[in-house]
Amino acid sequence: MQYTLTNYVYAGLVLDGYGFRKGCHEGLITKEIYDQVQALLAERRSRKPGRAKATIPWPLLGLVYCGSCGRPLSTHTIRRGSVVYRYYRCRSAAGGREPCKGVLVRAHEIESAVLQAAGLEQCGLTSKEEEAAFQSAIRRVVFEADTGRIQIEFRPGVNSPAASLA
Ligand SMILES: [Zn+2]
Repeated sequence: MQYTLTNYVYAGLVLDGYGFRKGCHEGLITKEIYDQVQALLAERRSRKPGRAKATIPWPLLGLVYCGSCGRPLSTHTIRRGSVVYRYYRCRSAAGGREPCKGVLVRAHEIESAVLQAAGLEQCGLTSKEEEAAFQSAIRRVVFEADTGRIQIEFRPGVNSPAASLA
C-alpha cells in the first residue's frame, strides 16, 4: 500500500467524500479510490473548472429527495483552500417549478445518518462494490430542511442492509 495521496485528497475524498471515520480507514484505501484520486489530481492540474466534480463520490445521488417539493436533490461543492465541502441541495427545476430556497444539507451529515441506520457507521464504505450494495438497499432518503429531519426508507425485504454488504 502506497501512501502518495496528498492532504487535499485525504480530506476531500476520503474523509469528507465517503464519510469515513478518522483512523478507521487507514490501510483500507482501495485501488478504486486511489484511481479516483489520481484522476482527480490530473483534472485539477488541467485547471478545467467543474471537471473534478465527476470523480467525487456521491453515494446518495438520486436517492435523496427534498422534503419540501419531493424532487431529487442535486450536488453542490464548495472549495475552501485545500478542502472540498460537499452538499446536497434542491436545485431541480423539474415540473417547471423553481428550486426550493435554502434546502441545503452537508453530504457528510446525511450520508453518516444513513450509514448509521444501516449499521455501517464504524468504517463507512470501503469500495465501489460496498457503495453499490449500500445504494441498492436504499429506496429513498428524504431531507426535511425545515426541521432538519432525515427520513430513511430501505427497500422492502431488506431487513438488515449491513448483511447485504457482507
Ligand atoms: Zn425542493
